[in-house]
Parts: sequence; C-alpha cells; structure tokens
Amino acid sequence: MKKLADTLLGDFLALIFPEFCACCNESLLKGETQICTKCRYDLPITNYHLHRQNILSQRFWGKLPIEYAFAYLKFTKGGKVQKILHDLKYNGNQEIGIMLGKWYGQILVDAGLAKLDANEVAKEQVFQVILPIPLHKAKLRKRGFNQSDCFAEGLSSTMGIPWHSDALKRNKATKTQTRKGRMERWQNVENIFEVTSHEVIEDKHVLLVDDVVTTGSTLEACAQAILNAGAAKISIATLAVAV
Ligand SMILES: [Zn+2]
Repeated sequence: MKKLADTLLGDFLALIFPEFCACCNESLLKGETQICTKCRYDLPITNYHLHRQNILSQRFWGKLPIEYAFAYLKFTKGGKVQKILHDLKYNGNQEIGIMLGKWYGQILVDAGLAKLDANEVAKEQVFQVILPIPLHKAKLRKRGFNQSDCFAEGLSSTMGIPWHSDALKRNKATKTQTRKGRMERWQNVENIFEVTSHEVIEDKHVLLVDDVVTTGSTLEACAQAILNAGAAKISIATLAVAV
C-alpha cells in the first residue's frame, strides 16, 4: 500500500512539478530521468572507442604517448550537447553528468574496454584508475563542484574501476599554451598540474577524464604530469569533443 501511495504521490508531483528533458525541454515521461528517450537515441555519439586512431587521438600525436583517446559526444554550438554541458556546469545538475558517465561506461564495457566477471567484479582491467582533471581551487569554490568528477563517478560505477578526486592538484587557473617548445612545455606542465598521491597512479594505466576537449592542451599538460610522476600508461576519455 505504501508503494502505491508513493507511486500516486510521485505521479501527482510530476503533474504539478513536471521534470523536463535537458535537451528538448519536453516533459519527461515516467521512467525517464534528465534526458528523454528520443533525445537519448539522438545523442551525437562519436564512436571513437571503436577506432584506436581517431580525430581526438590525432591531437596528441607527436606530443605524448596516449594509449586510447575517447570522447562520448560531439559538441556543436547550439546543439543538444551544449545544452547538457550548460545544465551540468552552470545549473549545477550533477546528476546528468553522473548519468552520462554511467551510459558511456557501459558502452566502453560492451566494447571490451573494461572487463567484468559474472559478479561484476573487475578481473582484468584495461584501465586501473580513473582521474578527473581537477579545477583550480578558486574555481571549485565558486562552482561548488567539479563537473569532471560527476563524469568520473558515473564511468567508475559501470566500469568497476576506482576513481579519485584528490590525487591531482591544479596550481594555476590559467590555460596552457600550446605554442611552446618541448622544454618550455614541460616546465609549464610542472607548474600547472601536480600529482599529490603518487601511490594512486604509480605503475597504473590511468584513464584521465574531462568534460569537454577542444585543442587538448589542458589534457596534454595533465597527462604529462601524470606520466612524469610514474604512471605506466595514460588514456583519455571526455564527455564531449568540440569538432
Ligand atoms: Zn528530449
């Protein structure tokens, strides 16, 4: 009876306070959360995980050795993905970031990039730890959360791989500069990102995650710092890629 009452109350609340799809603003139906079914199937998926050499992995060629570089969705101005990212970052809708991380994690599991046994315990993983790109502490204070943490949390839950939000530190809020020599870039990297928990990354294959990738210079700087600190391998997964 309690369950029926809960359902009735839920239906009643949905009538007065309907929830809307973050992409198309239509009311969500029962069983849908954040994104309606139609929009979910219309999401502009990159399928980069099916091709080891892809547009994103090419951005790192000649810069540093990246094992895999994936992005879930294609970002276009005024498109669905821009709406989702806006909702996540500026409306503070952390749930949508977690949900998309879960969806993408499942896609990677299905592609054999995370191996789970019958009890859903990781047996032989391609990646050993998931690390979100950290925000500078001033920005974190202002926003209240790191949007990349949400994506990492979702990925972690379906891939069965641990994630850590405090193994990395961002010392500068400024953007990296891509037009620099190798030595200068290395010094620049040393200044911007710092590995604070070496034991988390040492001899591991790290999956570094970010919300959206454009040039890739921030990811490159962070990945370099992780490799310098003793990670065995590094791969990249982002929620979106600007194409
Ligand atoms: Zn929709």
